Amino acid sequence: MEFQIFSKALYSTWILYRPERVLFDVGEGISTVLGNSVYAIKDIFLTHGHVDHISGLWGLINTRNTAMGDRNKQLRINFPSGNRAIEAYLDFIIGMNPRLRYNMILNPLNVGDEVYLRTAGSFRRHVTPFKVKHTIGEISYGYHVYEERRKLKDIYGGLPSKEIASVVKEKGREAITDTYLQKIVTISGDTFALPPEVISNSETLLHECTFLVGKDRRNQNHSSIDEVICTVRQSSGIKRLILYHISGRYTSKIKKWHNIIKKELEGTGTEVFLVHPEHVFEL
Ligand SMILES: [Zn+2]
Ligand SMILES: [Zn+2]
Repeated sequence: MEFQIFSKALYSTWILYRPERVLFDVGEGISTVLGNSVYAIKDIFLTHGHVDHISGLWGLINTRNTAMGDRNKQLRINFPSGNRAIEAYLDFIIGMNPRLRYNMILNPLNVGDEVYLRTAGSFRRHVTPFKVKHTIGEISYGYHVYEERRKLKDIYGGLPSKEIASVVKEKGREAITDTYLQKIVTISGDTFALPPEVISNSETLLHECTFLVGKDRRNQNHSSIDEVICTVRQSSGIKRLILYHISGRYTSKIKKWHNIIKKELEGTGTEVFLVHPEHVFEL
């Protein structure tokens, strides 16, 4: 399993990316669902300070302190630097838990910072925040997960594989390849629809889609489906689109909407999934 997600607009949102044991947002109910898996989490990335995205943090920090599990594992909490609601909440949590039995690191982030997740040999992945448009005065981020990959240098592109093999033998693999960064996951956070240049070439895009009917939206703080479809159509290289933060008002019509959106995105090469507002989504 790669993703485990619960998300219902206004109530709770959390996104677990299992390969890196990273949690994006910590809405209420998370510890109950994850149980002992709360120990597996190494990093938390908060998108913003609205209660439906942070209310489960206090519980999670406590559960890790008291339940059975490996207490030596540290927990790093990454959040938008200067976000007053998050800072106040973290102060409160720390005040209420003066004797934590594991190392908790607070890591305020600025746009463009790189948070390394794991490095094993040449395998490197990091998370980078970018700014998104949500409510006024609320510093809100989306996040990209990047992977460093290598590709054959252009000058070797036309060579037959036998010759490439002999060059590798002579000069080593590094000499014939260039490194590049591949966006493997993008999390939108709560936001107005992201522009194509932000989401293009992200292999898996998790985009908020609070409104499945455009006219249900009163303020331009969230995305509606027509804008998400529009920006995805103008982008390229998105293999999977996971729509989350869907309003509970659409609960009985998720299947219908899934079929409509699938049709709308036919021919784009993007496979679409909807996170049902009442169920834990797994992929
Ligand atoms: Zn929200
Ligand atoms: Zn919000």
